[in-house]
Amino acid sequence: RFDILIVGAGHAGAQAAIALRQGKFEGTIGLLGDEPELPYERPPLSKEYLAGDKPFERLLIRNAAFWEERDVTLLPGRSVVQVDPVAHRVATESEMIGYGALVWATGGKPRRLACAGGDLAGVHSVRTRADVDAMIAELPGVRRVAVIGGGYIGLEAAAVLTKLGREVVVLEAQGRVLARVAGEPLSRFFEDEHRSHGVEIRLGVSVEAIEGDTRVTGVRLASGEVVQAEMAIVGIGIAPAVAPLLDAGAAGGNGVLVDAQCRTSLPDIFAVGDCALHANRFADDRCIRLESVQNANDQATVAAKTILGADAAYDAVPWFWSNQYDLKLQTVGISDGHDASVLRGDPASRSFSLVYLRAGRVIALDCVNATRDYVQGRKLVIEGAAVDPARLADAAVPLKELA
Ligand code: FAD
Repeated sequence: RFDILIVGAGHAGAQAAIALRQGKFEGTIGLLGDEPELPYERPPLSKEYLAGDKPFERLLIRNAAFWEERDVTLLPGRSVVQVDPVAHRVATESEMIGYGALVWATGGKPRRLACAGGDLAGVHSVRTRADVDAMIAELPGVRRVAVIGGGYIGLEAAAVLTKLGREVVVLEAQGRVLARVAGEPLSRFFEDEHRSHGVEIRLGVSVEAIEGDTRVTGVRLASGEVVQAEMAIVGIGIAPAVAPLLDAGAAGGNGVLVDAQCRTSLPDIFAVGDCALHANRFADDRCIRLESVQNANDQATVAAKTILGADAAYDAVPWFWSNQYDLKLQTVGISDGHDASVLRGDPASRSFSLVYLRAGRVIALDCVNATRDYVQGRKLVIEGAAVDPARLADAAVPLKELA
């Protein structure tokens, strides 16, 4: 039994343990996760780690000595399959573990292709170190890679693999890349960038099957065309890993529902990070899940403070980044639901921002190689500032003057 049992040893789980000890929590803490490694950072997986620019040791959130010194008991390599909220107990494949409070921080599992061939050798998702190690091991025999899904992770992988000398084709079902998360000018900019690096971008195509006997040899589209590839990378989103909690009666659906203190509907059970469905003020109080390091850390900190009896409520402004080639994209706010957008600066200069508005108020920014806009634009988002679009469009006027 642990006073606090944290299930999921990723960003949110690790931060929950760190914040509890920072807040002088003196009880026992167990940090349980299904991966074998110490808690590590996921963003570099599709960036520096895949590129071979950063060894795994540099991805660790903290080293082994840190966890030992803080008396956090790591329970790697096991997964919770059942939660008994009445007995305050979880079950893994092989044991029962009691808890005083439970912090559910399980993130999500990559969505798999439902079509034929979806589990052939050479078909990979990019969620864990093991996923990326498997890709790296196969790369020497691979000349051409099909990336299925033009979201951030797929595009980051495309950029790295191109740099590693592979031919890459991105297969996207929508009419533009990043369609779910960004406005059209940003999508078009990234499509152009990738094409200029030799990546083939195929839009509006749907994947019918993965071809191959034992290993992928190509991707068959609905048109019948077969795109030849010796590796397929699937980046079509995640499904939150919440089945044991929902089975135990927690409210939720696409995630487990939490309040502003990250409490689920079950007693003494909190949920944080990618798996937590919450009403977000920056999304017009809609219930959403955020998949970002910022959200994982901030929600984990709120849960830890609540456990410690402090007043805390999740109210953080969402932010995110993505690196592709020499481009640094930084986003703040949630653009979904915008009714207007303003381009600030010239995409051809490779430094510009896209500002999103709803009902005349700034709700989000996507900034490409424009850190100053990102830093100054945060304030506009936090305040929901009403700004004249003509002034926003004038890149010569610093955003801080518009706050
Ligand atoms: P995770 O980090 O996924 O940790 C959850 C852990 O729980 C995992 O180890 C999982 O295997 C484990 N688990 C699941 N179910 C169980 C169970 N039943 N029992 C035990 N363990 C379980 N965000 C950014 O802000 N910027 C970026 O540039 C960025 N790039 C990314 C690139 C990649 C390739 C990926 C995959 C993600 C990226 N993200 C990025 C998103 C970010 O990594 C996630 O938002 C963050 O990891 C969420 O933290 P989490 O703790 O909620 O989930």
